[in-house]
Amino acid sequence: MHIVLMGPPGAGKGTQAKIISEKLHIPHISTGDIFRSNVGAGTTLGNEAKKYLDAGEYVPDSITNGMVRDRLAQADAINGFLLDGYPRTLNQIHELDSMLKSLGQTLDLVIEIVADTDVVVQRLTARAAQEGRSDDGADVMRHRLDVYAEQTAPITKVYGERGLVRQVDGIGTVAEVTDRIMAHL
Ligand code: AMP
Repeated sequence: MHIVLMGPPGAGKGTQAKIISEKLHIPHISTGDIFRSNVGAGTTLGNEAKKYLDAGEYVPDSITNGMVRDRLAQADAINGFLLDGYPRTLNQIHELDSMLKSLGQTLDLVIEIVADTDVVVQRLTARAAQEGRSDDGADVMRHRLDVYAEQTAPITKVYGERGLVRQVDGIGTVAEVTDRIMAHL
């Protein structure tokens, strides 16, 4: 199974991605997590990415695409993966197409978690209090939602035209949303 999980910040993507990837025995590959761990470890990649993360901007494709290409080529991703947070731009869609082609694989499904802006703002505010993520402050949060709407929502259109998108209501308990996702798999 090669799955892309989409949805606005605060829709519960990360939580669901962990659960679904365990159920399906495929790696959960989160570009946000990879960036954050590199920032934490002070790697060259992390140092390059930090200013974009802190501002709620997308890290340039020139950095992001190579990072994902390397990750998908690792042995644990050979039988499938769940991508969380990638692709986020049209250019990244084309890059992913090319990565999958060179690996002899195809994308099976794009799950889009849909949630109302008021709900995701509430969730992000709660997460800011709990986790202290540097990009969960009110202004940066709103900016990330705008960036998502502008740049990422058109991606569902492209995948929709390929018949790959399944929309899932993100409002409800974690278990309810998991069941809705699993119903498509
Ligand atoms: P996330 O944890 O998915 O919300 O991602 C956190 C931050 O990491 C984003 O706001 C971006 O700065 C960066 N990031 C994650 N995935 C990507 C991507 N596919 N392209 C560019 N930047 C990304």
